[in-house]
This record gives sequence, structure tokens and C-alpha cells, in this order.
Amino acid sequence: MSIAENIARVRAELAEAAREAGRRPEEIILVGASKMNGAAACREAIAAGIDALGENRVQEMVKKLAENAYDGAPLHFIGHLQRNKVKQVVGRVSLIQSVGSLELLDEIEKAAARQNFLQDVLLEVNIGGEEAKSGFAPAAVFAAAESALSRDHVRVRGLMTIPPADADRQANMRYFQEVHTLYVDINENLFHNELKYLSMGMSGDYADAVRAGATMVRVGTAIFGARDYNL
Ligand SMILES: *Cc1c(COP(=O)(O)O)cnc(C)c1O
Repeated sequence: MSIAENIARVRAELAEAAREAGRRPEEIILVGASKMNGAAACREAIAAGIDALGENRVQEMVKKLAENAYDGAPLHFIGHLQRNKVKQVVGRVSLIQSVGSLELLDEIEKAAARQNFLQDVLLEVNIGGEEAKSGFAPAAVFAAAESALSRDHVRVRGLMTIPPADADRQANMRYFQEVHTLYVDINENLFHNELKYLSMGMSGDYADAVRAGATMVRVGTAIFGARDYNL
């Protein structure tokens, strides 16, 4: 299967899930998680109409930016972002999806202020309360969003989550629903319902994520095939 065929299949499944949930297929944003895939694969996905590409490693992203891998599509940063690498990301991506601490938010604010840039971000929710994972605890997300409102160069556009990898399908669905509930609450009470992005769902669960209210999914393997870990 080519990248274009994979994108078409994923889109069809997303559309079906959206309709089942009484939502419009056009409102689902498909982000290709292109890590460990070269510039040629990125270009193929863009030619096939992917909505955005997402990278999770700064060094790889910088290298592929220099190769013009993302020309023609918005670029997102979706991985764990270390504070000392913020400078290399702010202003170069249209959305940082993985802001999981106030310290990181501050660092992004500083870097964006220096560039006089307004950086769009999503707040990452650590919905499974996993020790090894970054992200705000569910109970801390509202305060974090409120605190972000006072920063002039960072704009919160929504929430992102990655449920625990070992959750069964039912538990996974419940995690998605919990994050959706948080999203609706924050959207109504802090953002006048102007938030548009609830990013959840990957290759194994994007249809369930859409059923639970996702408006953005991040899909790697189902589009690009198995990753080349030597890249
Ligand atoms: C790699 C990655 C994905 C996509 O994973 P697949 O299972 O290959 O679809 C989604 N989100 C993040 C943050 C990733 O790093």
C-alpha cells in the first residue's frame, strides 16, 4: 500500500467514525506522525493531502526542515520537549501539541516573546497518571489553562493526550472520554468555546478517539508503515 492509499483508507475510517458520532468528517484533522520517515515520505504525504505533519524529535525535525520536507503543510511538534530545545522549535512549527508543565509553558513564552511570535500550543494531559509520562494531571489542567491565558506569546488551542499503552479497548475509550470532558469544561468556562483542537488517537485507536470527541488524530504507522529506526 502506498502512503496515498493509506491516507485515503484512514480518512475513510475517520469519516465513518465521525458520522457515527453525529459529527462532520471535515472537522477531523489528520496529522501524519512522520518520525523516522525521510523527507521523501513527508512529501508524499503532503502531495496526498495530509492536513499537517508532526515530529517528536527536535534534531530530526531540524534536519528535515533543512531538506524542505514539510513544504506545503503545517508542521506540529508532538513529542516530549526538553526546555533547552525550546528555542529550536518555537516559531518553526504552527502548533506545539505537547506542553505538559508550567515550566515548559514559561520557556515557550520567553522564546516566543524574543521572536515577537504568537506560539499556538496544546496542553498535554497525563490521563493515566503515569509516572514516566509528561503532561498535566487531569486535576491540574484547568489551572494550567487559566495560567496560560496570562501569557502574551502563547495561545492555548486545545488539549492533547496519549492514554497508557497497556489499556484495553474499553479503558482506552474511557480515558478518551475523560479528556473530552475536561476539554469541554475548559472550552466553555475559559475559552468561550473557541478551542478547536482535541488531539487524541493514533494508529491503533483513531476511530475510537473520534467517537469520543477527538477533532485531531496523530497517525504514524498506519500511514507510513513500520518505522525505519536507523534514520
Ligand atoms: C509516533 C507518535 C504517534 C503515532 O503513533 P502510531 O502508533 O505510529 O500511529 C502519535 N503521537 C505521538 C506523540 C507520537 O510520537
